[in-house]
Amino acid sequence: MEIPNIIIAVDGYSSTGKSTFAKMVAAQFGFLYLDSGAMYRGVTLAAMEAGLVKEGGEIDLPALEACLKDDPDLHFRNIEGETKLFLGSRCIEGEIRTLAVSSNVSPVSAIPFVRNFVDERLHLFSEGGRVIMDGRDIGTTVFPNAEVKIFMTADEKVRAQRRYDELVAKGDTPSFEEVLANLKERDYIDSHRETSPLRQAPDAYVMDNTFMTMHEELVWMLGLLQGKFNILEGALSC
Ligand code: C5P
Repeated sequence: MEIPNIIIAVDGYSSTGKSTFAKMVAAQFGFLYLDSGAMYRGVTLAAMEAGLVKEGGEIDLPALEACLKDDPDLHFRNIEGETKLFLGSRCIEGEIRTLAVSSNVSPVSAIPFVRNFVDERLHLFSEGGRVIMDGRDIGTTVFPNAEVKIFMTADEKVRAQRRYDELVAKGDTPSFEEVLANLKERDYIDSHRETSPLRQAPDAYVMDNTFMTMHEELVWMLGLLQGKFNILEGALSC
């Protein structure tokens, strides 16, 4: 039995493993995975490369607005089954995950015209449904009618350790304290901004994965979908 064509919204704090979880669910159930954070990171990278984010974090708002009106060609492409973000013909998946971009992305994401730009694109890429999308405001603002909403959380230090390990594996050399500080700062800005702050939707299912393995996360999701769509035990493979 198949899961119907639905939208699954996955929101939560930084480095709670939302994208790993969403990718796993997408592969298991044949959903398109879209990473809204990648779009915000893409806008941030484009702004930094155009010199619109000054030393100290000051943003040239009129120039950034004009840049987005010109439509910097930010789009997702499916490369060997994985969704990757492109700026024109350039794959920017690696560049958008550096600590430099992470340090600027939350202030850039708090700008209302940036949110409108990203929201429009997310809707465009999601046409037809059967999408799992992760971010901060997917279940509250982007797709408030999503059929399934999940809110992910985990212990702050565990999250920072995961992010630190990821950066080190990619060859970056941050200190753990730097990574923890960036995570705390992003969570604070994301939860306190005026436009679409990070909030748990009232109808979201909460997953605290501090002590969960990926397999346990998948079993949790299976249980949720089986209950919600009356799918019989054993009808889905895990
Ligand atoms: O998910 P990720 O950590 O890559 O997101 C990077 C940043 O993009 C977040 O810290 C947040 O500032 C912003 N973001 C957002 N709304 C979303 C997704 C991400 O504001 N839906």
